[in-house]
Amino acid sequence: MTGIIEVFTGDITRLRVDAVVNAANHSLLGGSGVDGAIYRAAGPELLVECESLGGCETGAAKVTGGYNLPARFIIHTVGPVWRGGGFDEDALLISCYHRSLVLARDRGLTSIAFPAISTGLYRFPADRAAAIAVETASAYRDGFKRIVLCCFSDASAALHRTVLEALEQRALRNPPQKPEPAVIERDENEIGRGR
Ligand code: ADP
Repeated sequence: MTGIIEVFTGDITRLRVDAVVNAANHSLLGGSGVDGAIYRAAGPELLVECESLGGCETGAAKVTGGYNLPARFIIHTVGPVWRGGGFDEDALLISCYHRSLVLARDRGLTSIAFPAISTGLYRFPADRAAAIAVETASAYRDGFKRIVLCCFSDASAALHRTVLEALEQRALRNPPQKPEPAVIERDENEIGRGR
């Protein structure tokens, strides 16, 4: 597990990965926060491509080119607005990570960076979102060389690191079982018959 999932503090628009994930809104036509930063850094051609996509549902993901970003692609996903936890917010946030990772994997991309989706304007509790980010990313680690959880503050990075370290400790305590060597059952009477 070690090394594939990394927690990084900084600006996602600077990362040279196959794909950066954008915490977009339904229109996919740009907004504030990380969405605004990605739009500014990618340049005006991004809007032209996004206008052809017909928006995006909460929990779903769509891909565009990366334009002026160092990343080759942008995966746009729409996180849930936190409304107290009784409106499928956890499942929808899991779906954002899951659908983005599947989209990237199906295109043969091996490095991807996520912002802390929904934890800004959409007010998802940061610790709960960090647990979802780490756990969901970890389920896909075998298909990737790098999954970067790009945090915009030290506090957010600390939350992600705590969950990641706990997960790694758990994996060390319970390593995947090696399959038992196959036992060839033989009839005792066969022994000595030169078979
Ligand atoms: P949402 O509407 O999904 O909550 P926001 O953009 O408001 O999206 O915030 C999501 C997270 O992205 C927040 O933790 C915010 O601090 C972070 N963020 C904002 N700008 C950047 C950036 N340039 N790079 C990485 N993360 C960013």
